[in-house]
Amino acid sequence: MDYMKAVVFHGNDDLRFESVPRPQIINPGDALVRVTTSTICGSDIHIKHHGETMGVKPGNIIGHEFVGIVEQVGGQVSNFKTGDRVAVACVFSCGECFYCQKGIHSQCPQGSVFGGSGKLDNRGAHAEYVRVPFASRVMHKIPDTLSDEDVLFVGDILSTGYYGAERGEIKAGDTVVVIGSGPVGMCAMISARLFGAEQIIAVDLDNHRLGIALNQGIADKAINPQSEEPLKVIKDLTDNRGADVVIEAVGSKTSFEAAFRYIRPGGTVSLLGVYTMGVDFPINQHWRRNLSVKMGLVEVTHMNLLIELIKDGQINTNFLISHVLPFTEIMKGYELFENRVDNALKVVLKG
Ligand SMILES: [Zn+2]
Ligand SMILES: [Zn+2]
Repeated sequence: MDYMKAVVFHGNDDLRFESVPRPQIINPGDALVRVTTSTICGSDIHIKHHGETMGVKPGNIIGHEFVGIVEQVGGQVSNFKTGDRVAVACVFSCGECFYCQKGIHSQCPQGSVFGGSGKLDNRGAHAEYVRVPFASRVMHKIPDTLSDEDVLFVGDILSTGYYGAERGEIKAGDTVVVIGSGPVGMCAMISARLFGAEQIIAVDLDNHRLGIALNQGIADKAINPQSEEPLKVIKDLTDNRGADVVIEAVGSKTSFEAAFRYIRPGGTVSLLGVYTMGVDFPINQHWRRNLSVKMGLVEVTHMNLLIELIKDGQINTNFLISHVLPFTEIMKGYELFENRVDNALKVVLKG
């Protein structure tokens, strides 16, 4: 049997970099992909600490943000061949069930986030090789002119940011507040602009991250609640109304409550944060404000569009990459990313 290195979840607070058997094609719709570039996500850190409560089985490989080269395809995969460079959605789905037919791929009974389903035959991508189920629809060819890094974020955080903006129903001219200027928040800002947002306001406690959002031109105004009262600034910028759309990209009680303070009556709150605890919702204060609230796992349905926009130069997410390490140093990468060492934003693993 062939072996490979991978990041294996052994229980809460117990991730190990170790040798495991190389995955193989199981179903005719599968592809085997050699991971050439991957990155660590905030949800990997959630799994690291709370994987058991999230349903991740001890023994599973985690990681779901990656691109690679097709090593082998199953008999039903006709649109890809060995050697193709592919960007892969972080969530796979069958494409045929009740939910997939309705476009709610995230709820496909046969689907999952890579490495996150609680089934040991669904293994993640912090590994040298990964089995990609339903490969014809989950993989997307990388144009020759683009590098791995150019499209690395399309399969998860850029799709997530886009999903948050899309679900926020942003209209041309809107003021959009994005709570959280981390990688997902910044992808939401990039996407909000695509939907025509006129004024994008970033809120975060980290001045370095706010500075990046301003320097990249993806936010027009940055607010650190430690030095300014966000609600006052937002009201000053919106004729005292509040934001048309709030995209929440943190996943905490504070950010949840802030989202409902910053939104104007009739506006839309789009929640992208990963919540690991419940939050009380004061419905008595909010029911008469005619708000729309959207939440949920990303539907990764616009990868081809996003890859085209990157190819055309309309989107560039390379500035999110703060650190690049060889894959063999991935555990150091987890430390850098989690503790924001040297202002780590996205830590990329090669090979
Ligand atoms: Zn992710
Ligand atoms: Zn399905």
